[in-house]
Amino acid sequence: MKNQIKKIVISLWLLTGLASQVHSAPAMEVVVTIPPLHSLVQGVMGDTGKAILLIQNGTSPHDYQLKPSVRSLLLKAKIVFYIADNLEISLIKALDISPQKVRKVPMIHQRGVATFKLREDEDWEKHDHVDHSEGGDTSSSHHDHEEHHDEESTDDPHIWLNPTNAIVMIKAITRELSMIHPENRSLYKDNALSLISDIEAIEKEIETLLAPIKGIPFIVFHDAYQYFEKHYDLTAVGSIVPDPSRPTSVKRVKDLRRKVKESGAVCIFREPQFSNKLSILIADETKAKLATIDPIGADLKPGADLYPSMLMGMAHSLRSCLLP
Ligand SMILES: [Zn+2]
Repeated sequence: MKNQIKKIVISLWLLTGLASQVHSAPAMEVVVTIPPLHSLVQGVMGDTGKAILLIQNGTSPHDYQLKPSVRSLLLKAKIVFYIADNLEISLIKALDISPQKVRKVPMIHQRGVATFKLREDEDWEKHDHVDHSEGGDTSSSHHDHEEHHDEESTDDPHIWLNPTNAIVMIKAITRELSMIHPENRSLYKDNALSLISDIEAIEKEIETLLAPIKGIPFIVFHDAYQYFEKHYDLTAVGSIVPDPSRPTSVKRVKDLRRKVKESGAVCIFREPQFSNKLSILIADETKAKLATIDPIGADLKPGADLYPSMLMGMAHSLRSCLLP
């Protein structure tokens, strides 16, 4: 009897020991700004916890305004994964005034992430992603902080649209999470490897889908796609708006009409997170077809599956409109 009790005690002890090898991240600990990045972080975390997604319901990060409820979420976080200081501007400024130290991880500065400059030549006019809304309570105090901000950076922040960058980002996310929870290191690594092999598998499918449309010209809503275009060798010839956070001028509409005609653009791709009005107007006045492309997973359910679904969705949208 004594021996039996001893056995039970030992096996209970072993069981709790095993269970404590995988630590769940407390809610609110890991915060992520946009859906595609959240998808990669959640994919690495797997069942160990839930990453909080801040910018959702189809909101564009370019004109995102921080709500007080989100600010308090941010202040409870241990780590915040985001893309770049010149993308999620108001969010990152809010972290500067945080009394508590939140670890900020900008994906654009991770070693191995390939970047392009914002396009400014005659086809792709200046597009600086700077938030033009003035005021707010995050005014000038952030400049005194020890961390340097490059919201005036000329790097194009839409880095996630190159799947090779996503793979580099997954590795960076795995390193960062392992620093917070070293006991989950091997689990994170396994999750990361399976995520990477999923992305590599759909890469081949996407190549096949896009092969017949290389060279067919199209117009996008905003200049977000050079990472995707260059990776898959596509032919975007311009964007409807130069900067999604600024109003569009009458002259711009005139120029666009001419540009669509001269370039022979077959499709104009609107985006779910922006108003349709201008895209519809230009498509009506030209022979271009109107279609939708979603570069941020605005129409998808947040979670680990979002990133590969978003890439596949983009490939299908392009193909079904551009294919003659
Ligand atoms: Zn954008």
